[in-house]
Amino acid sequence: MGKATGFMDYQREETNKRDPLTRTNDWREYDTSFSDESLKRQGARCMDCGTPFCQMGEIINGATTGCPIYNLIPEWNDLVYKGRWKEALERLLKTNNFPEFTGRACPAPCEGSCTLGISDPAVTIKSIERTIIDKGFENGWITPRIPKNRTGKNVAIIGSGPAGLASADQLNQVGHHVTVYERQDRAGGLLMYGIPNMKLEKEVVERRIRLLEQEGINFVLNTEAGKDIPFEALNHQYDATILCIGAQKQRDLQMAGRDTEGIHLAMDYLTASTKHLLQGDECIDAKGKDVIVIGGGDTGADCIATALRQECNSVVQFGKHPKPPAARIGSNMWPEFPNVFTVDYAHKEATAKFGEDPRQFCIQTKRFVTGENGSLKEVHTVEMEKTTDENGKATFREIPGTEKFWPAQLVLIAIGFEGPDEQLLQQLGLDTENGNVKATYGNFMTNIDNVFTAGDARRGQSLIVWAINEGREAAHKVDEYLMGSSTLPSYLEESI
Ligand SMILES: Cc1cc2nc3c(=O)[nH]c(=O)nc-3n(C[C@H](O)[C@H](O)[C@H](O)COP(=O)(O)OP(=O)(O)OC[C@H]3O[C@@H](n4cnc5c(N)ncnc54)[C@H](O)[C@@H]3O)c2cc1C
Ligand code: SF4
Repeated sequence: MGKATGFMDYQREETNKRDPLTRTNDWREYDTSFSDESLKRQGARCMDCGTPFCQMGEIINGATTGCPIYNLIPEWNDLVYKGRWKEALERLLKTNNFPEFTGRACPAPCEGSCTLGISDPAVTIKSIERTIIDKGFENGWITPRIPKNRTGKNVAIIGSGPAGLASADQLNQVGHHVTVYERQDRAGGLLMYGIPNMKLEKEVVERRIRLLEQEGINFVLNTEAGKDIPFEALNHQYDATILCIGAQKQRDLQMAGRDTEGIHLAMDYLTASTKHLLQGDECIDAKGKDVIVIGGGDTGADCIATALRQECNSVVQFGKHPKPPAARIGSNMWPEFPNVFTVDYAHKEATAKFGEDPRQFCIQTKRFVTGENGSLKEVHTVEMEKTTDENGKATFREIPGTEKFWPAQLVLIAIGFEGPDEQLLQQLGLDTENGNVKATYGNFMTNIDNVFTAGDARRGQSLIVWAINEGREAAHKVDEYLMGSSTLPSYLEESI
């Protein structure tokens, strides 16, 4: 343990986030790294508490608690405190294939279950993680690890999001020939065409893809399995296939006026915006418009930040649920993920620009109204009251007399996802469960013998860190299937 009294000597510090107003003038990342000295102090705050709940990775009351890839957090905190960065990097890479993604965009459930968080602000685990990997790249410590021996086995991975990339990385490292098929023009899944540039710069994603290519992984882009190549033909060429196709089928809002021009699904908006930024493709432009984002989650927040950078005239975000409490309540105790009111990067930016938080809570959209020229003019809403019965079942009731009309020329629907696109699943005759590909966690094999699945495609829309977890665990199972046993780590089999 680094400094025995560190948690008493030092306060939690936040990274230098760029000024919320000025950063909306560009698309660069809003967060920056810590200085070495302040990061050492932050590492010293880790108490080496004996039972590191931060790295336990469990679901409690439906929410992620601790780190799902079991990052060895107290170990690297200690090494950072002592300035032993390279060793910290080695420890980090033992459990995490892509810390540059999680260190930037993970919601850090580890910090929610940090033991110090019982009495004080938690250790800044995520920022420490980011700085360790950024230093690794800056100092040239990350170099291609080209496998010395090849097994002669061929694996196809469909989908290049974090689940597909983690599987590919693991399987390539034990010598299998890995080919990743991706329907988009760039690899990365939602890392590339979901999460916006100001949260995760696309060069960071492309740097990792280049590295994986140098290590021997073959990427086939612009190729949709089941459409551009019939799945049967594809699967025939490989000893095993892993479906990492995500869960990108978006939930829509069917109601009066939905067909009006100017109403878009959030992912169409975000994808087009990133493609515009990277290669000048046409985008859905919020410039000069009153924008309404329907959906109170993180995808909605990313839409706000994007609309601000496109110079929208105003932006409002509707959420169905009440405003969360300022501090934990009795039913949400440590070490669970704290369900408390937070101000995301996008909300800070909107407040800086327009003087108030863009969020409206307990709002139900009723209809979209067009003007005389047929274009979108207004969104009509009503306020809701949420009640929860003794069994925890929630009911929403409209409050009479609370109807409101909001001016809008652009509406973005961000109300969640329903699972993977059905076309490929139907073509394959795959069993599904709640709309997702059916396979048990820990086994990952579908109802087709050599076809496995991992990530959002199996568990539904989730987090990068869970996609990495599933990608790693599925790779272990596939290796075992191909070779009879596996040297790849599996937390489930306690072989880390
Ligand atoms: C807007 C948005 C913001 C998010 N922000 C965060 C965040 O800040 N932090 C966080 O932890 N999580 C975030 N998430 C969730 C996170 O991005 C996902 O949980 C994660 O990317 C899932 O990884 P995956 O590999 O399972 O699937 P995906 O990343 O969805 O990748 C699936 C890939 O498969 C490809 N594909 C699908 N079908 C085929 C086919 N038939 N042939 C070839 N390719 C195919 C798709 O094009 C896609 O590239 C966000 C999600 C969204 C939508
Ligand atoms: S991956 Fe996420 S949960 Fe795990 S240590 Fe990093 S920030 Fe925390």
